[in-house]
Amino acid sequence: MATHSTRMLIIGSGPAGLTAAIYGARAGLQPIVVQGLQPGGQLTITTDVENYPGFREAIQGPWLVQEMQAQAEHVGTRMMWDTIVDIDLSGPPFRAIGDSGDVYEGDTLVICTGAQAKWLGAKGEQELSGKGVSACATCDGFFYRGKKVVVIGGGNTAVEEALYLTNHSDDVTLIHRRDSLRSEKILQERLFAHPNIKVLWNKAVEEFVGDTAIGGAGLTGVALVDTVTGEKSIEPAQGAFVAIGHAPATELFKGKLELDESGYIVVQPGTPKTAIPGVFAAGDVMDHTYRQAVTAAGTGCMAALDAERFVAAWDHAKRG
Ligand SMILES: Cc1cc2nc3c(=O)[nH]c(=O)nc-3n(C[C@H](O)[C@H](O)[C@H](O)COP(=O)(O)OP(=O)(O)OC[C@H]3O[C@@H](n4cnc5c(N)ncnc54)[C@H](O)[C@@H]3O)c2cc1C
Repeated sequence: MATHSTRMLIIGSGPAGLTAAIYGARAGLQPIVVQGLQPGGQLTITTDVENYPGFREAIQGPWLVQEMQAQAEHVGTRMMWDTIVDIDLSGPPFRAIGDSGDVYEGDTLVICTGAQAKWLGAKGEQELSGKGVSACATCDGFFYRGKKVVVIGGGNTAVEEALYLTNHSDDVTLIHRRDSLRSEKILQERLFAHPNIKVLWNKAVEEFVGDTAIGGAGLTGVALVDTVTGEKSIEPAQGAFVAIGHAPATELFKGKLELDESGYIVVQPGTPKTAIPGVFAAGDVMDHTYRQAVTAAGTGCMAALDAERFVAAWDHAKRG
């Protein structure tokens, strides 16, 4: 069992963690990034990315994070194949225990563990993911210009996604398994007033139907069952957006850091600072609103700059 010490320990290797690493390394903090079970983060499970600034043509999500990692390593970041299973925030230094048994100590800690979209678990969902099935309208809505799309869910996310999709499609259907929505009233009013959105009540998705072959048609419809009558039907669609929420990866921090009611890390408004000096959170793990690669990178940058200031003030205090 080895102990690895650094001035800046980063948990998570998505855009937030890798951007924090680039800034931290360039500030001389010799960061360590512990990559976790999904090295590169959520972008590794998508294909075309058309909204990351700097690229005129579509780029591939996995390629984008590979480039970020290469840049982080080039400036001196150490990447670790490990997953943090326990954490002690009583520092600095802050101590994280890896699944390997190794111990990671950081004078500062940047938490970038991200969030995962919740899926329905319906038949065909994973097979057609990226071929018509998505969990992010902001990311993928553009690919369904002029096509018929459905959104599944009944909370704020679902209503916002349906409204957002009207920018691209004039045939948007919201599918909800109950007879009323959980979302805020104001959002509901906008949804019901929109001429291009219809709502299918009391319908649960049994299956995503389509052609999974490479170059095939992709999604063609969703098979529904009425939750009251049991009647079955098919709703034709070329795009289906599962909008039933996200789960932030914050299990490790329960009872150790303040989390909001959905489990996201609470930071001081407009900053990546948690209530513990020297501990920062960046990216989707602290942001349930924007959840984009560029915003994750942006908050990763902010966390690294604040970590560098924390270290400088700490060193100054030690010198007396
Ligand atoms: C299918 C899909 C398509 C998308 N398309 C786009 C797009 O086109 N444009 C866009 O801007 N955004 C897109 N997004 C959103 C974007 O991917 C996320 O906003 C972004 O990846 C968030 O970055 P992050 O660094 O905060 O977290 P993530 O990318 O979620 O990375 C989290 C990291 O934390 C690690 N981790 C978690 N727990 C631990 C642990 N205990 N120990 C160590 N490591 C841990 C994971 O292994 C992972 O490396 C898409 C998302 C999905 C799912």
